Amino acid sequence: MNKKDYLKEYREENKVELKVKRREYYEKNKEMIKLRQKERYNRDREIILKKRSLYRKIDVQQTKEKDKKNYLKNKEKILRRHKRYYKEKKKYILKKQQQVRLDNIQKFKEKDKRYYNSHKEEKKIYNKRYQKNNRDKFKRYTAKYLKTFNGKVSSLLRSHKYLSKKYGSEFNLRKDDVIYILNRDKVCIYCGSKERLGFDHIIPYQNKGNSSLVNIVIACKSCNSSKRNKEVSQWCKNKGFVLPKGDIL
Ligand SMILES: [Zn+2]
Repeated sequence: MNKKDYLKEYREENKVELKVKRREYYEKNKEMIKLRQKERYNRDREIILKKRSLYRKIDVQQTKEKDKKNYLKNKEKILRRHKRYYKEKKKYILKKQQQVRLDNIQKFKEKDKRYYNSHKEEKKIYNKRYQKNNRDKFKRYTAKYLKTFNGKVSSLLRSHKYLSKKYGSEFNLRKDDVIYILNRDKVCIYCGSKERLGFDHIIPYQNKGNSSLVNIVIACKSCNSSKRNKEVSQWCKNKGFVLPKGDIL
């Protein structure tokens, strides 16, 4: 029997005792061992990492199982370590995450969509509860948003959806159409006011007006409620407004 085989046999026979001994030795010389390991790691970092990654590639399945086992065994410790690392490098991590997102914007959008579709109901409940618990914050946020161009567009779209549903008309206005109307009219087309603007149908839904880009214009709240479903040229005459011409009528 050669030396190697003999050692192997010896180790096999004294497995338990050796383990205890090793443990004892480790406990006794813990600091020294750790320091030595650290030194070695710092010195041969590249080689060690290369070796490690190579080893992981040889048997992916086994490595995964090992990782999982290790995770379950040391869960608390690992989570603590992650938390500490996150706290220390928060700025760096967030920046990196943002960059990854920017680099893969399409991929992330699809992922978000998939996630939203599979968690729709949960998300709705969550949003509702969040709104309820943060009512003031939400009000402030909404008021601020409605003052922006995008906010105006979405609020106009919503009011159009509501009106067309109410009068059984077709909901066929797209975001681009709303942007077009806003850029075309800018102010109330009757009195020129810039306050409380909304959609007005020159020929109202009730009088079989449609939601074409020619029939929908921007008008202020006061003109809107004064005009209602009156005939437009007569109403303008009564009010002393000049009836808008050109591509609108
Ligand atoms: Zn007006």
